[in-house]
Amino acid sequence: MSQTFSYDFDTPTFKGTTKVHTGLFINGKFVAPAEGGSIEVVNPATGKTITSVAAGTKKDVDLAVKAAKEAYKKSWGLKCPGSERGRLLSKFADLVEQHIDELSALETLNVGKPFLVAKTLDVTSVVAVLRYFAGWADKIQGKVIETNADKLSYTRHEPYGVVGQIIPWNYPMLMAAWKLGPALATGNTVVLKPSEITPLTAQRLSDFIIEAGFPPGVVNIVNGYGNTVGQAISEHPDISKVAFTGSTAVGRKIQEASAKSNLKAVTLELGGKSPCIIFDDADIEQAVKWATLGIFSNAGQICAASSRILLQEGIYDAFVEKFTAVAKSLQHVTGDPFLAETQHGPQVSRTQFERVMSYLHSARTDGAKFHIGGEKHGIGEGFFIQPTVFTGDNHMKAVKEEIFGPVAALIKFKTEEEAIELANDSSYGLAAAVFSENSSRALRVSHQLESGTAYVNCYGITEPGMPFGGYKQSGNGRECGEYALNMYTEVKAVHVNIGMKI
Ligand code: NAD
Repeated sequence: MSQTFSYDFDTPTFKGTTKVHTGLFINGKFVAPAEGGSIEVVNPATGKTITSVAAGTKKDVDLAVKAAKEAYKKSWGLKCPGSERGRLLSKFADLVEQHIDELSALETLNVGKPFLVAKTLDVTSVVAVLRYFAGWADKIQGKVIETNADKLSYTRHEPYGVVGQIIPWNYPMLMAAWKLGPALATGNTVVLKPSEITPLTAQRLSDFIIEAGFPPGVVNIVNGYGNTVGQAISEHPDISKVAFTGSTAVGRKIQEASAKSNLKAVTLELGGKSPCIIFDDADIEQAVKWATLGIFSNAGQICAASSRILLQEGIYDAFVEKFTAVAKSLQHVTGDPFLAETQHGPQVSRTQFERVMSYLHSARTDGAKFHIGGEKHGIGEGFFIQPTVFTGDNHMKAVKEEIFGPVAALIKFKTEEEAIELANDSSYGLAAAVFSENSSRALRVSHQLESGTAYVNCYGITEPGMPFGGYKQSGNGRECGEYALNMYTEVKAVHVNIGMKI
């Protein structure tokens, strides 16, 4: 028998109770894991255990895939009209919206992000993304293609069948929505693995999958570790496509596992070390605000974080001063994520905390100059790190590698060519930004940046209708927008003889 966990929130921003099933969600039911494992879930703001949830293994993935395969054949895939898929997705979005406070509180409890941010950004975006893809569900269509022969030639965009989805901990619910939305709209069935660090909101979403009326087996959520459940998904012969968001190192393993098993299609959304170029003629007040949002929101745990800020020499001193002042002011609004004034929460786990601290140590050893931060924030037992600003150069480990924490590296440049060279001098290519009041220059530079997203005089925006993904080792494939539909469909060419004789 699967169990539930109940939590009473009595906080300044939310009072209420949530009840979450802790079992695996397979074939429309919550079940105990085949081998009886469990994982402790920790509150990063206090370092204390919240509850335990089931940890699946390969056996549970096999059961989930079997259920998804059955559901695909019997009640989904080509058996369910797009309008019905869209109706169910809309209902799902409505249920999330109706529970927005509860879901935001649960995300805050598990991830440590400020409640008001979880509500106004994360969960609000989940609703928007699900509605966006609900709208596409009855508009999945191919083309009629003129040929020289006496035939009707057209294409169909058909679902893959069972898709595997593996997601990270930084935006647990939003990453689930980015994956479930297009997969379900296009008629696939799903086996999704949340991050073992942040499973709570995905567990709660399972209730809404049932309530929305999705047939059993269309969505299966198998919590567990990467090297068990994640690996089993990547290797499964009956999964035709796997979509992954996470680190570049794990993305590589997933690609290998896919190649060694059944050559399943793989889309990868990986890490980044995104440059933010600020020219002398930028609106400095605005540039400081956008760069702050880009690197310090979500405690810097953003794949597209503006972690390398490239400053032209004329604006350098003024920017360093203003940006450092903003980072300093964030130290005073760091703390309990359930307080309305909190803007900066903890890192998600002790492991991540230690990882960020080791990069700070490395930056110091490499001779970086720290303007603010660089230490554990001295409040409580949580995994808090001070918003940090240092100046350095592109050769330092902490400037080259993804830190995934509230740490901004500032680098000076002289010319436009040098800025482009520095910006592209990275194995990553997720996002990049240009700040300049000279629109010709801003656009010219943005076109030369090797990144899946280019921001001009802004930073960090994602939209349900705009594609998101990386160049180089930041991944392949795109999420969101019409482009995401292509990632979840195969194209069939149909040739119909209407008069050819042989
Ligand atoms: P991670 O790669 O450690 O884990 C991501 C997911 O993969 C988790 O669910 C984990 O359990 C699973 N996993 C781990 N080992 C696995 C294996 N061998 N096989 C299959 N699955 C496995 O990443 P993380 O620490 O959860 O997240 C941080 C990383 O994610 C950062 O590098 C960040 O840049 C990246 N990220 C990218 C995007 C994007 O859209 N590009 C978005 C968010 C996070």
